Amino acid sequence: MLNKKTVDDINVKGKKVLVRCDFNVPLQNGKITDENRLVAALPTIKKLIADGGRIILCSHLGKPKGEPKPELSLAPVAARLTELLGQEVKFAADPEVVGPNAKAAVEAMQDGDVILLENTRYRVEETKNGDAFSQELASLCDVFVNDAFGTAHRAHCSNVGVTKYVDTAVVGYLMQKEIDFLGNAVDNPKRPFVAILGGAKVSSKISVINNLLDKVDVLIIGGGMSYTFSKAQGGKIGKSLCEDDYLQYALEMIKKAEEKGVKLLLPVDSKIGDAFSNDCNSQIVPAGEIGDDWQGLDIGPETEKIFADAVKDAKTVVWNGPMGCFEMPNFAHGTEAIAKALADTDAITIIGGGDSAAAVNILGYGDKMTHISTGGGASLEFLEGKELPGVAAANDK
Ligand code: AMP
Repeated sequence: MLNKKTVDDINVKGKKVLVRCDFNVPLQNGKITDENRLVAALPTIKKLIADGGRIILCSHLGKPKGEPKPELSLAPVAARLTELLGQEVKFAADPEVVGPNAKAAVEAMQDGDVILLENTRYRVEETKNGDAFSQELASLCDVFVNDAFGTAHRAHCSNVGVTKYVDTAVVGYLMQKEIDFLGNAVDNPKRPFVAILGGAKVSSKISVINNLLDKVDVLIIGGGMSYTFSKAQGGKIGKSLCEDDYLQYALEMIKKAEEKGVKLLLPVDSKIGDAFSNDCNSQIVPAGEIGDDWQGLDIGPETEKIFADAVKDAKTVVWNGPMGCFEMPNFAHGTEAIAKALADTDAITIIGGGDSAAAVNILGYGDKMTHISTGGGASLEFLEGKELPGVAAANDK
């Protein structure tokens, strides 16, 4: 359970409240193509409006690398938030983020007003957690609320540095929800607890595998990372993705699973291609029997069945990472099968951001999941068992 103060523990009437949100949304020609993160931020904003605060929203967007980039301005977000909230969200356009325009906009606020500052990463100090910009942000407000789970694994001015210069720093509802779901799933799961890991690399999920082996009943490994495990066990993997530096690690994890009594499920068959392209020649072969000129691009049908069966009997499932190269329709079937299995199970299902969240939403299973995290990197670090700096910086209860 979260031991941090939340927006329910403070009184914001008449106070200036700086709210760090995660409005890092995909944009195409100035149009927001996925507004899940905006919708997810609304409960906290609405609560602060209802309580009579003066709400100053801030966020980063993309990687402008410390200078104003018009295509990464948060102006379209202010416009869309205005529609979603049914009340004006004034955009405080300001290349310095906390420059004269922003300060004037804050000064003019009445209780219940909402403004949005410019992209915090227009300032080079932001990602360095520099003192000056942290102080500038703090100077705008009486109270700080962090509701940006997507950046909680980073220590930046707008989510960590700023808290050094305000007396009251709490978390918002989204942050609370993310931590409650992920935390309960990992530390207090209803069993059987099944974790499904996929994606490209073992190296990016080493600590996740290691940590989850202490917690789960079943660990499923698919996607590109499974070929390192296959090779480590003496399998032939052709040109499949493999990290030779992690073969020993893979064997250690297989041993750890045995020692812990964790059922480790690896693919028993693969859909392979003769090139890394959607239209290559493809065939299904048993795992570990991939010809020299072929590469594994998806799990095979037998594997889909075994993985789906494991999910059927689960009470808690956490999923992070696709089962294959799902961006290519001919190699998306494995990832789709897992999404469907999760949609059909009665278990608590938690999707750890990033590609798996996108896949579940695109396939139309979003509303069948218990919780879809808004933070890919942050949820991975959570699954690693790490403390997130953005959460740690908030006041304790
Ligand atoms: P990650 O960011 O580590 O979760 O990896 C996601 C990426 O892994 C996606 O872009 C997938 O296309 C890729 N991926 C999944 N399975 C494979 C595979 N068998 N071979 C190559 N790439 C894969």
